[in-house]
Amino acid sequence: MRRYDVIIAGGGVIGCSIAYRLAKSGLSVAVFDAGTAGKASIAAGGMLGAQNEFEYENPLMNIALESRAMFPDLRDELFEESGVDIELRKAGLLKVAATADDKPALLKQYAFLSGKDASVKWLEPDDVPSVESCMSIETAGAIYLEKDNQVKAPLLARAFLQAAVNAGVHVYEREAVIRVVVEANTVCGVQTTRGVFHSDRVINAAGAWSGTLFAEADFMPPIIPVKGECISVKLSEAAPVKTVFAVDGCYIVPKRNKEMLIGATSYPGSFDSSVTAGGIRSLLNRAARLLPVLDEGIIDRTWTGVRPQSSDGLPIIGAHPSIKGLSICTGHYRNGILLSPVTGVLMERYLNGCEKTAAVLAPFSPFRFQTKKEELLV
Ligand SMILES: Cc1cc2nc3c(=O)[nH]c(=O)nc-3n(C[C@H](O)[C@H](O)[C@H](O)COP(=O)(O)OP(=O)(O)OC[C@H]3O[C@@H](n4cnc5c(N)ncnc54)[C@H](O)[C@@H]3O)c2cc1C
Repeated sequence: MRRYDVIIAGGGVIGCSIAYRLAKSGLSVAVFDAGTAGKASIAAGGMLGAQNEFEYENPLMNIALESRAMFPDLRDELFEESGVDIELRKAGLLKVAATADDKPALLKQYAFLSGKDASVKWLEPDDVPSVESCMSIETAGAIYLEKDNQVKAPLLARAFLQAAVNAGVHVYEREAVIRVVVEANTVCGVQTTRGVFHSDRVINAAGAWSGTLFAEADFMPPIIPVKGECISVKLSEAAPVKTVFAVDGCYIVPKRNKEMLIGATSYPGSFDSSVTAGGIRSLLNRAARLLPVLDEGIIDRTWTGVRPQSSDGLPIIGAHPSIKGLSICTGHYRNGILLSPVTGVLMERYLNGCEKTAAVLAPFSPFRFQTKKEELLV
């Protein structure tokens, strides 16, 4: 069987972004995916919520802002390298208090975000429709985040995959990694459904499944699968252009051709792929309360995806605590689309030995869970 410089388990936006950057740096790379590449990635809303997602200081915020800023150039680069347009839309995001009860938390987030960036604006209820004409006036106010733009997530996943292939990456779909092959605590390759492939560097980027991969290792990334349901509705006349995100987590992301992507429910611990009537009813009720025009739309389709959430909410990126050559890159939870550009670049630098990058990635190191385990034992 073949030998590669790096083998990656998982062909979602994270695995393919890393593969693309590694191949560009001159390494031979293989990506294995248990199904068709990008399970969560093709289900996502595509929001680049680098401000929407943060209410207080968080080590993830800086790299989220950095990643969001990469998208305009990335759009051009991926179009050149893959022929796929990721449909970057620059209309910004309205984070809305649907009721008076939601307002105090939103005002607190506004104080935090506007203290860092003067472009962040507070809108009183009467002002909300002047920024997005389809919005209801019956809200309790909103934050306008003009830089939180969006892309079409399945196209981003396809663009990274195709760009990786065009850069020389071998992508094996429907070929699961069954186990990592380890000798004397050092990685020598992976066993897949087709056989053994050799490499002394392996990356676990299997998203929600990464916590169950390589089951025999003494450390497994603590990943919780979080199922989410979505629905898309097509409008024919007036249609919003800005992403609308309610404090309760329901959002509407306007795509091309007046397609409104409405998400998402949240079921921690579930890999289930069925769409429930109750989940869709709740999304439609909450979405139409903010954008009444949705009631006139035609239901296009429904789907589910599984987000990879770590036990402390931060991504898990870095070396496996006890197996030399094995790295982990997972736990991007509901921000993997936003974080995929910066993750690919940081992982490429990290694997190529950049010490500065290792320092940037320190808050996300898998070792943090080891330390906690040892503290508990004392
Ligand atoms: C409903 C929903 C809405 C979302 N909205 C947004 C959003 O608006 N903005 C945002 O930034 N993020 C969003 N996210 C989150 C984002 O989609 C994820 O964080 C991101 O896609 C994770 O990428 P990944 O590559 O880690 O996982 P995935 O895309 O799931 O890829 C992991 C891959 O690993 C493969 N795999 C599993 N087991 C094995 C094995 N044994 N061997 C080989 N391969 C294996 C799987 O088949 C899968 O293709 C959303 C997610 C969901 C579900």
